[in-house]
Parts: sequence; structure tokens; C-alpha cells
Amino acid sequence: ATVVVAVDGTSGSGKSSTCRGVAGRLGLRYLDTGAMFRAVTWWMLQHGVDVHDPDAVAARAGEPVLASGTDPDGPTIAVDGVDVSAAIRTEEVTRAVSPVSTVPAVRARLLAQQREIIAPPGGPGGGIVVEGRDIGSTVWPEAEVKVYVTADPAARAARRALEEGGSDVAATEQVLRERDRIDSGRATAPLVQADGAVHVDTTPYTLDEVIDLLVDLVER
Ligand code: C5P
Repeated sequence: ATVVVAVDGTSGSGKSSTCRGVAGRLGLRYLDTGAMFRAVTWWMLQHGVDVHDPDAVAARAGEPVLASGTDPDGPTIAVDGVDVSAAIRTEEVTRAVSPVSTVPAVRARLLAQQREIIAPPGGPGGGIVVEGRDIGSTVWPEAEVKVYVTADPAARAARRALEEGGSDVAATEQVLRERDRIDSGRATAPLVQADGAVHVDTTPYTLDEVIDLLVDLVER
């Protein structure tokens, strides 16, 4: 049987590094669903779509063609054949992604793609660690392991600002909180602690400690 590990949580709680580490340690695939929402957002911005107009976003939600690589040592994401792994990390995309992600047509399209990656119709995909906001609640409620990851917002902002090369901590915290507010408050598949999910507050732990903790959860 193939294992699915669903990891959801707030923005900037260290999910990506944690999930890549867990997948690497256990020889599992890795899917960053946030990268998929970011890629759609990047495409909308490229095509001049008003990302704050849900009808305009919905009208074009069927157009971008995504390709997600699932190697935890080098995850990739492409839109219409263009590798956007770096382009989706800009501040412009980060500010626009939560509004775009509230649009049901966007979510429906990505949901279908996410399920196909988790369990490819043609054959064995292998176990996978999937990170996002609605994996344990909506995308794959039957996941064998579910984790809900949070961290203190100030600690998250300090860490993120450091990663971004010394950007302003207060401004970074503001953007993280705003994304959490929109992600938790939307009507379709909001961020919640899924039924059966183990809550891990990562604030006091190092990355390696959180990876160990999750590996233990999967192995037990
Ligand atoms: O994980 P990351 O911070 O890259 O996700 C970017 C954004 O994509 C989130 O803030 C959220 O708005 C959206 N998202 C989502 N559902 C997911 C994953 C991400 O709505 N499963």
C-alpha cells in the first residue's frame, strides 16, 4: 500500500522544508500544492487578469497548463511549458496568491490535478508527502497521516525575512497574517485542522526536530 502524508498549515510555518525533508528521508514523492496556486497566479498576472476580480480569474481558470515535478530533492513547477520555480516566489505573486486561491473554479481545476498526481490513474505513483491548506480536509481526507502545522506569527516572520535576505520583519509578518486571514476565511476549502490531524506547533523546534517528529508519525 502507498502512504499519503497530508501536511496543512499556516503560511511560513516551515512546511516546505519540513515536507521535503520527510519525503527525502522516507523515499517518498513530494507535492507542493501551494506552488500550483502560485503558478496559476503567476499566469494570471502575466496575462493581465485582474487578480482581485473573481469573475475575471474564474473565466480563465481553465487555461494555464501545469506540470509539477515530485522529486523532494528538486521539486519543479512549469506553466505552459515554462519553468516558473523561481518566478512564483516574488512578492507580487505572494501578495496575489490568496485572493486567486479563493476562486472556486481555480480550486476545482487544481483539485483534480492534485488527485491525479497523488494516485496516477495509469499505475503506481508511490507514497507521497503533500503540503497545502486543504489536503487533509478536502484533497485527500483518507490520508494515512495528517499533520496540521502552525508557528508563532512573529517567529515565522523573522525566519521568512531572514530567508528573503533581510527584508522588513514587520511587513513580512503583515503579509503572512493577511494570507492566513484570507486562507482561513474563504468559503471553499478553507484552512482548518482536518479531522484526525495531529497539531504540531513548530515555534520551539528546529527544522531537523520537526522532520524527526513527522517521520516518527509516519513510521509508527
Ligand atoms: O504554501 P504556499 O505559501 O506557497 O501557498 C501559497 C498560497 O496558495 C496560500 O497562501 C493559499 O492561498 C494557497 N493555497 C491554497 N490551498 C493549498 C495550497 C495553497 O489555497 N492547498
